[in-house]
Amino acid sequence: MVCGKKILVKSFNVPETVALAFNGWNKKYKALHDDWVSDKIIHRDSGQALKDDLSEINLEGITLSQDLTKERETYFLLFNDNALGEVTVPDLCPYCGIKLVLSGRQRVMCCPDCRIAFELEA
Ligand SMILES: [Zn+2]
Repeated sequence: MVCGKKILVKSFNVPETVALAFNGWNKKYKALHDDWVSDKIIHRDSGQALKDDLSEINLEGITLSQDLTKERETYFLLFNDNALGEVTVPDLCPYCGIKLVLSGRQRVMCCPDCRIAFELEA
């Protein structure tokens, strides 16, 4: 797997329903991220939603990655707040518990079953 390239979903051969679901999710994720980076205390909930492995936005992103993988190998890169040197990568997948594997030119730890990934560096 080679990681690090941004690929537009519309270049995939995915059903329109999956593409629309992805676009809707992407808008919600971007809104949360923009809210979080605004760095105002009232936006703490947005940061929590991004950081929580079990938040609705992350679980929806994982499901979409699993759907997209049917057409093209896709991983969901879990949010990792590295602005304060808080990059933490677990040894085990937080969803299924198997050992994460190194991939993507040794920059990403991933779970091939759940389709999630952690970036090792910023
Ligand atoms: Zn897993």
